[in-house]
Amino acid sequence: MESRFKSIFIYVKITYDMGGKVKKTTIILLMLLAFNVNIKADNQILVNKQEALEKEYKPEKLISPEINSVKYRVVLIDEAIKDDIEKMFEGAKKEGIELVILSGYRSYEYQKGLYNRYVKIDGKEKAETYVAIPGHSEHQTGLAVDLTSEKELYQLKETFGETEEGMWLANNAHKYGFILRYPKGKEEITGYMYEPWHFRHIGYEMAKDIYDKKYTFEEHLKYLEEKRLEEERRRNEYKNKYMNSNYVKRYVFKNTGINIFKSKSKGE
Ligand SMILES: [Zn+2]
Repeated sequence: MESRFKSIFIYVKITYDMGGKVKKTTIILLMLLAFNVNIKADNQILVNKQEALEKEYKPEKLISPEINSVKYRVVLIDEAIKDDIEKMFEGAKKEGIELVILSGYRSYEYQKGLYNRYVKIDGKEKAETYVAIPGHSEHQTGLAVDLTSEKELYQLKETFGETEEGMWLANNAHKYGFILRYPKGKEEITGYMYEPWHFRHIGYEMAKDIYDKKYTFEEHLKYLEEKRLEEERRRNEYKNKYMNSNYVKRYVFKNTGINIFKSKSKGE
C-alpha cells in the first residue's frame, strides 16, 4: 500500500480507537490531499515570451556574490543561487577558466529602459529577438546571469560560445544547477537567438536532465507536464479500482462503523 494511504487509514484507526468520531468529510479531504501533493521549487519559475512576471515581482533577498565582476559594476542575484554561482566560478578557475559576471538581477523598470533603448536602435521586431519585453525577462527573477570574460572584453557576443570560457560553461554549468537557456538551433522554441552567455539557475536535478537530453527549459517542462498527466491518469485508475475494492470497504467499516462508499446522495 502506498504510504500516504497507509497514513490515512492509521489516522482513521487511531481516532476511532481513542473514542473520536471520524467524519466522512475528513476522510475525503485526506484522500484529496493524498492525490494532489505537488511541490514546485521556486527556482523553477518559467519566464519567457508567453509567461510574464508581475511588475512588482522581486526576489526575496538580493545579494552581491563574491565572484569576478566588471569593474565598478555591482551585480545582484537572488541569494538562493549565491553558493552555486560562487562554486561554479571556483570550479572554472581550477581548470584555468576565468569567468566574469556582467549582469544578474534586473528590475522591471530597468528592463523597460533597456527595452525602449534597443527598440529605438533596431526597431521592435529585431530588438525583441534579443531583449525581453519588461516583465518577460528572466533577469527579473534574480536567477539568471550573463557571463563573459576579460578576453571577450566583457562583451556579450555570439563568439563567446567558441571561447574556452563559453565552452566550459556549456559543458559544466549543469553541475552547479545552471542551464544554457537559449541554445543554438532552439530559437523557435525559446523565442530568442542563441545566447552563449545567458545562464539560468533551475537546480541540479533538472539542470542535469536538460543537459543530458539537450532540451530547452520549455521542452523539459512540457515533458514533465505530460509525465505528470500520465501519472495522474494511472493513479486515478488505481484509485477507482482500489476504492471500490471490498477490502477497503470492509476495512473502513470495521474500523469506523461507517460505510463511506455506500451512498453519494446523502452527503454531509
Ligand atoms: Zn541575459
